[in-house]
Amino acid sequence: MQYRSLLTKMKTELQDEVQYFLETEFDVLNMNQLLDRELAFYFVKYECLNCHENKKIFRQGFCYDCFQSSAKVGDWIMKPELSTAHLDQEDRDLEYEKKVQLQPHIVYLANSSAVKVGVTRKTQVPTRWIDQGAHEAIEILEAPNRYLAGITEVALKNHVADKTNWRTMLKNEIKDENLIEIRDQLLQYIPDEAKDYVIGNNKETNINFPVIKYPEKLKSLNLNKAQNYKGKLVGIKGQYLIFEDQTVFNVRNNEGLVVDLELV
Ligand SMILES: [Zn+2]
Repeated sequence: MQYRSLLTKMKTELQDEVQYFLETEFDVLNMNQLLDRELAFYFVKYECLNCHENKKIFRQGFCYDCFQSSAKVGDWIMKPELSTAHLDQEDRDLEYEKKVQLQPHIVYLANSSAVKVGVTRKTQVPTRWIDQGAHEAIEILEAPNRYLAGITEVALKNHVADKTNWRTMLKNEIKDENLIEIRDQLLQYIPDEAKDYVIGNNKETNINFPVIKYPEKLKSLNLNKAQNYKGKLVGIKGQYLIFEDQTVFNVRNNEGLVVDLELV
């Protein structure tokens, strides 16, 4: 069986074990069902997710030209504190920016390799945590727009990590932290403008990933360079496929690649 896929990040469902779905040309594959099976990947071409041309992907599935011009990848995506739609100020396309920025955003703590603070749209909970490979997470605050969530994140970043180590996450060298306690210690640093939006609840979300065997060393697969790869799938965590020979493949970092996937 062979499937052609324009890679986009896998869709997920939070169940006892996270369920992963990969879109292909004619089907949606439940990747959990491919665990313990030999898979082969073949690089076919690039397809920019914005202009759909066969142009080398620069970042986030976009070619260089689209990345420089599209409203979907403005600086405020990676740096929420730069959001300006609440002031009626345009970055690249005010209508689009209002739609995305002027909606509820969550500031959270997630533990994937270290506890980090992050921001996401409310509709992306718990998707965002799953994509990061976090095994536990808690909400801190629900802001009415992206800007307020962004300045809160900036303030809290001084007191907790904002970067995580994907190698540690994939090797599962993790520990459980008391997120409620860490959150409570951080509350004092929330900016005055955002204080009213603190969420008082103590609900911690725990996430189990479908992994048969964690890797001890890691080899990152560059499919464009290698052109093809074959291996037995032994786990999925975050947006990574983990293979028996310790190769890992970050589906999200490879958005915009067209690949053929063969079930060997
Ligand atoms: Zn493009």
